[in-house]
Formats: sequence, structure tokens, C-alpha cells
Amino acid sequence: MITVESLTRRYGGFTAVDNVSFTARPGRVTGFLGPNGAGKSTTMRVVVGLTAPTSGAATIDGVRFADLPNPGLEVGVLLDASAQHAGRTGREILTVACETMGLPRSRVDEMLELVSLTPTEAQRRVRDYSLGMRQRLGIATALLGDPRVLILDEPANGLDPAGIRWMRDLLTGFAGAGGTVLLSSHLLHEIEVIADDLVVIGNGRIVASGSKEELLASA
Ligand code: ADP
Ligand code: ADP
Repeated sequence: MITVESLTRRYGGFTAVDNVSFTARPGRVTGFLGPNGAGKSTTMRVVVGLTAPTSGAATIDGVRFADLPNPGLEVGVLLDASAQHAGRTGREILTVACETMGLPRSRVDEMLELVSLTPTEAQRRVRDYSLGMRQRLGIATALLGDPRVLILDEPANGLDPAGIRWMRDLLTGFAGAGGTVLLSSHLLHEIEVIADDLVVIGNGRIVASGSKEELLASA
């Protein structure tokens, strides 16, 4: 479970995240919905220990990310799919990540297959990938260590409708096996397809949260 508790993050006098609290539960895909600039990335960066909170806290199963015994194997993270090393091939990126985490190289081919990147595509440099292919590679990297939690910032950006349904099936399967998923999007139609639960943020504040059925019925 991901728990965000009274989280505030200020940049100078500007409050990017304002007293935000929510949970993302195991067995569910939680969609973090809000327009650009709402504070989604800042919140997720605090969850994975890349940004310090001004006040409040974020934990994974009760522990701060930095205090997890083996964060690389426990939490899969995709923060910016377009930031992957452009000069490397998809296969190289996965191989290096495997080595860093001490995983068998056989994981590389398993993950490529899981995200439907062909061997030929895996040999191409990431600079020649479409955004959708970068997202698939990013998902493969996030899943490499067989984590129990996935944190994905705008992972459906650049996917076509079939790609979005593919992601829904993948994440629903992951959650069905007991995993916890938090994914952000600025597009309601993406979140509507992919998520079970919604957390809606605007101007740094939580506007609504609950199951998708509940929230869409009252909208
Ligand atoms: P979202 O992910 O919902 O698009 P962000 O969390 O990226 O939103 O940004 C929330 C707000 O905080 C935006 O107004 C953004 O400009 C501001 N912000 C984010 N990071 C920084 C930073 N390092 N310095 C100053 N302002 C920032
Ligand atoms: P900086 O961003 O300045 O390098 P750090 O990320 O090292 O700072 O963290 C600064 C402070 O914020 C530390 O006291 C750290 O324990 C605390 N902190 C970092 N991540 C979290 C979190 N997820 N929840 C609560 N406190 C946190």
C-alpha cells in the first residue's frame, strides 16, 4: 500500500502540493488524475524519495522509500519515459538494469515479450522509438525486478487506444496478483479505461477520491 499523509511541498513561496492525503491499495489500480501542473509528479517524486516533502510524509507499506531494504526490487518506477538514454538500444537499457539489480539476463527477453517489443525493435536505439515504444520499454524496466508496487507517471501518454487497453490488461493482471499500482494521467478517458480507484488533484489539492464507479456516478 502507498500512503501519502498530509503532504505539502513548496517551491519558494509557491505551494505545488497542498496537504495531500490518499492511499493506493494492493489489488487495485489507482489513477491519479489532474491537469498539467496539478502536483501529480511532485507527489510521485516524494513517494519515490526524489523530492523531499516540505511537511507530511509518503510511505510504502509503512516505510519511506529510502528506508526500504531493497527499493529496486520492491517498487517499479517510471517517471519520465522520454528521459531514457536515447543513445542506447532497448535491449542495452534492460540488460544494464538487470546487471545493476543482480537479476538473470533471461529477464530481459521475458520483459521484452511482456511489453510486445520485438527482437528487432529491441536492437534499435531509443532515439528512434516512438513515445509509445518508450512507454513500453519504461514499463518493462519498471517490472524487471518483479516488484509488488508500481509507480508510473503518465505511462499512457503516446499510446493509442489499443495500447491503452493493453496497459489496462497488464496493470489489472499485476493488481490481480496482489500488486499496488499508482499511475497518473491528465486525461480522464485514459484513467477511465485503466484505473479501478481515482484520486483527483487540482492546484495541489485533492478534489475527490474513491472507486471509479462511485466517482463517475456522482460526476
Ligand atoms: P503535474 O505532474 O500534475 O503536471 P507537477 O507536480 O509537475 O504537476 O507540478 C506542480 C507545480 O509545481 C507546477 O506549477 C510546477 O511548475 C511546479 N514545480 C514542479 N517542480 C518544481 C520545481 N522544481 N521548482 C519550482 N516549481 C516546480
Ligand atoms: P534533499 O531533497 O534536500 O536532498 P532529502 O530527500 O535527503 O533532501 O530529504 C530531506 C528530508 O526529508 C529528510 O529528513 C528525509 O528524511 C525527509 N524525507 C525524504 N523523503 C521522505 C518521505 N517520503 N516522507 C517523509 N519524509 C521524507
